[in-house]
Amino acid sequence: MARPHVVVIGSGFGGLFAAQALAKSEVDVTLVSRTVAHLFQPLLYQVATGILSTGEIAPATRDILRNQPNATVLLAEVTRINLDSRVVVAEKLSKTIALKYDYLVVAAGAGQSYFGNDQFATFAPGMKTIDDALELRARIFGSLEMAELSEDADERRRLLTYVVVGAGPTGVEMAGQIAELTHHTLRRSFRRIDTTTARVLLLDGADAVLPPFGPELSAAARAELERNGVEVLLGALVTNVDATGLDVKFSDGRTERISAGCKVWAAGVQASPLGRTLAEQSGAGIDRAGRVEVNDDLTLPGRPEVFVVGDMISLNGLPGVAQVAIQGGRYAASKIAGEVTGHPVTTPFRYHDKGSMAVISRFGAVAKVGRLRLTGFVAWSAWLFVHLLYLVGFKNRVTTLLHWFITFVGRGRSERVTTEQQLVGRLAVKQLGPEFQPTIGGTLEPGKIKH
Ligand SMILES: Cc1cc2nc3c(=O)[nH]c(=O)nc-3n(C[C@H](O)[C@H](O)[C@H](O)COP(=O)(O)OP(=O)(O)OC[C@H]3O[C@@H](n4cnc5c(N)ncnc54)[C@H](O)[C@@H]3O)c2cc1C
Repeated sequence: MARPHVVVIGSGFGGLFAAQALAKSEVDVTLVSRTVAHLFQPLLYQVATGILSTGEIAPATRDILRNQPNATVLLAEVTRINLDSRVVVAEKLSKTIALKYDYLVVAAGAGQSYFGNDQFATFAPGMKTIDDALELRARIFGSLEMAELSEDADERRRLLTYVVVGAGPTGVEMAGQIAELTHHTLRRSFRRIDTTTARVLLLDGADAVLPPFGPELSAAARAELERNGVEVLLGALVTNVDATGLDVKFSDGRTERISAGCKVWAAGVQASPLGRTLAEQSGAGIDRAGRVEVNDDLTLPGRPEVFVVGDMISLNGLPGVAQVAIQGGRYAASKIAGEVTGHPVTTPFRYHDKGSMAVISRFGAVAKVGRLRLTGFVAWSAWLFVHLLYLVGFKNRVTTLLHWFITFVGRGRSERVTTEQQLVGRLAVKQLGPEFQPTIGGTLEPGKIKH
């Protein structure tokens, strides 16, 4: 008899951990993802600011699963799911494949949300993918290069102004690193500009940084950011972003134009559009961020064979964090394994909150673990340990530790290469329009419409 076929969509935390948890089950697993790697998103900002290389935070999924004989990895984007016929359709360049499943685990994650202002993305990239991080690296270092070339004092000031929108962990970490970079690391690298005069602004519409960490850690994080030269502007709603800066409306009614060379968008997420497809076909609800309201065992209503995990789910207010995806992926795998062996798992999904952390500066972080509230070096050490633990691969851990040593002890950055493709690639592809599609040969073929 044929073994049950489990299709897993996504190679992020949810997808990878689900596939790995099925290693010893009598099933065949096909993991289909539009990216070749398992991306450790929490360290994207370190790629953007020249600390780590892409390989360290994004090892190839094919490599991670090479010793798991029941797992097959396919590089393709899922464009359709038919719940009635139990088929997933995925495409890559001119190839289309259909995968029939007995069980489906959907872990396609979330993208950036500009809250209905997608035009902002042209000038303020988000931080969700390796492409985003490399583009931001080119913009962060590129702004300094342009300032060094400029003869105009106003222009220099603008190019030396960095704005990070969104004071969640990503925004806080990003702003902290840009300040460290400009105020310390690069201060002797330029001759015509003084990088220590760079302004680094962190904006948020809310009235606190890191609100989910609670008032005590939030205040500590803000104080540490300001001590390191980050200007924190709260109650600040961004109303427009363009090539030369952004417009802000404050909660007291004031408006301000901020001229800035480099803008980073770290606010808001929108779940994968696959969520809507699933909701429409199953009758599940969907929230404003496009997350699917799943049953308490992570299945869709009336579809016990379909699991949705990670950033795509709306369940009991669970946050969009790596642990929710990891534990969800493993839970879905345990349900499938239980059914296959005739020992069904009947308990609902229970999330164990292992805490949250954010790095603010060199040797400074905040961490919330159970009732414990940690700040400073202790929190930073905990952060270092946890992130090393969850990085996939021994080699990655060793080289990451080396890079952290270079950065945190020596204040150096060894990953500073930027290319023009990184800088303009996203916008250039967008301008080419949907009728262009790259071929493996590296040329652009007109007339091949990507659906
Ligand atoms: C910059 C940043 C910093 C973060 N920091 C932290 C942190 O400090 N701590 C923490 O706990 N969490 C953090 N998070 C959140 C955490 O990374 C996510 O909660 C987690 O990655 C969610 O896992 P997931 O499997 O649901 O989705 P993801 O990890 O996003 O994986 C989604 C996968 O699906 C694939 N995919 C998407 N669409 C398709 C499609 N149509 N077809 C095929 N494949 C598809 C993608 O290529 C990817 O492999 C951070 C996130 C970001 C962006």
